[in-house]
Amino acid sequence: MANRDAEETKLRGIAASPGICIGRAYLVDQEGVDVVSKYSVMESNLRDEIKRFKTAVKNAKDELRSIIENTPEELHPHANILETHLVLFEDKMLYDRTIETIEKEKVNAEWAFKKVVSGVKSMFQNIKNSYLRERAEDIIHVSQRIMRKLVGVEAVNIGDIDKRVILVAHDLSPADASQIKTDKIMGLVTERGGRASHTGIIARALEIPAVMGLDHATKLIKNDDLIIVDGSTGIVITRPAEQTLADYGGRQIRYREYQTAVSRDSHLLAETTDGFIVPVMGNIELSDEAASVVEHGGDGIGLYRTEFQYLSGARFPKESELFEKYKRVVEMMAPKPVTIRTLDINGDKAVNGFFDDAENNPALGLRAIRYCLKNPDVFKTQLRAILRAAVFGNVRIMFPMISSCEEVREAKRLLNEAADSLAEEGETFRRDIKIGIMVEVPSAVVMADLLAEEVDFFSIGTNDLIQYLLAIDRDNTDVSHLFQPLNPAIIRMMKHVCDVGGEKGVQVFMCGEMAGEPLYIPLLLGLGINELSMNPQSIPAVKSTIRVLSAKDAGRFAEDVLRRPSASEVMKLLRNEYGDILSDKVYTE
Ligand code: PEP
Ligand code: MG
Repeated sequence: MANRDAEETKLRGIAASPGICIGRAYLVDQEGVDVVSKYSVMESNLRDEIKRFKTAVKNAKDELRSIIENTPEELHPHANILETHLVLFEDKMLYDRTIETIEKEKVNAEWAFKKVVSGVKSMFQNIKNSYLRERAEDIIHVSQRIMRKLVGVEAVNIGDIDKRVILVAHDLSPADASQIKTDKIMGLVTERGGRASHTGIIARALEIPAVMGLDHATKLIKNDDLIIVDGSTGIVITRPAEQTLADYGGRQIRYREYQTAVSRDSHLLAETTDGFIVPVMGNIELSDEAASVVEHGGDGIGLYRTEFQYLSGARFPKESELFEKYKRVVEMMAPKPVTIRTLDINGDKAVNGFFDDAENNPALGLRAIRYCLKNPDVFKTQLRAILRAAVFGNVRIMFPMISSCEEVREAKRLLNEAADSLAEEGETFRRDIKIGIMVEVPSAVVMADLLAEEVDFFSIGTNDLIQYLLAIDRDNTDVSHLFQPLNPAIIRMMKHVCDVGGEKGVQVFMCGEMAGEPLYIPLLLGLGINELSMNPQSIPAVKSTIRVLSAKDAGRFAEDVLRRPSASEVMKLLRNEYGDILSDKVYTE
């Protein structure tokens, strides 16, 4: 019988940070606190038990504070992620409930704490929205740090690892990730987390390849195994054969050479061979990520996802806090545009009590603009901050999840009210900013001609448009093979939006993940998309792709694509037509 251990195995996770690395696995067990026993505590000792819990929290907090102070310079912009963790230490859900449990059940602190954390974890399991789920991971990270202090298990200090390895972990907290030294840690594989998790964001900031959300990684990969991590495709290969090693070694070299080559010109505008300029912008979630957009040569910010500020704190941010963050981004990018998208959260599941009243179908629920229109005070606070920040540069405002003309009109009415209130108070602000909508719900595509009368631009959000048009839950791995940007129905929708935009003089942008993939660029250009926005790391490759294409040829190509009945046939056509031109782009497995 063949020795299974010796067989090459290909594992699939989420492509969280691009690039390829090949090296030895280093398994880190950041938990080490699974086995906790229960014992009763006598009434007279309860005070001491509570004190023991409070001391553990304090020590865990001090430990994190010192990590923040020693965070390497390049990660300073991300230290605020850790600052938010500091607040979570005294989160009522964890802190107060544990003390209550010790008192009521007269049990040891570890047991009480474990019980509270398990309750929180099981509530997380019901959350469908990946963004919220990943924010909830922060609470788990914090609780693990406290538990380690309680049971006296010392954490592996990632900063102390002194050999070149690839980290493999069940989970890695942002605090752990911020200790990574890139001359030692080549890449990351984790069972939990995803692109939008803080650890994913940090991996991209450090520019090390990362595959996250890879189920059972710590069981399938053994310590010291030779592994290949392809963070561009989400593939991890264990015990690779000679040939595979040689293939990936070659790809790794080509990827590096390519990155170096495309980065040289990334600060210049991207112009097709026949003279069309396509602005290539960056998507950000944190204000500090604007620096990465500048560094990668972005022509502006095409999508500023503003929900993070609402989800990381114990309360909704104040106007002044929002204003400060927006102003920083706007000033840093000026005179380049910054497209601030208004709050896109699953309404009542955000922050305060976001575990209560879970919706059965959050993606179809009180999300984004629906939540804002139902909560005009929350919405107007944000609108006022945006209008005030607009004074410092070139701001556009964008409303998410629009599905009807009434929603846009109502959003604009509230925007006017926000402006009027600022005027009455004598605040400095700008009213004359461009207004746009995300086109990500199929009804918005169908109504595009009438919606065009209301706005200055459309921005196609393929992540949700695919989800809603094809009825594919974007977070459900069981149907991820059907999540196809090249599905002809999606292409026809995009074509319709571009045609309407052309007729009505409304610019059509794209800010979904599809925009950041070089292979799709000929089609997007051919359909007539005016501007692309993507994760900052993809900007140089997309700019270099645009420079080798002719808009006229791409237009003819798009006509041909529109006659194809399936995603696989469109892909075949793309490879036939553009495979040679794009052969140096690293885009598929
Ligand atoms: C989209 O839906 O394509 C999009 C860009 O928005 P988000 O991923 O934030 O839903
Ligand atoms: Mg969306």
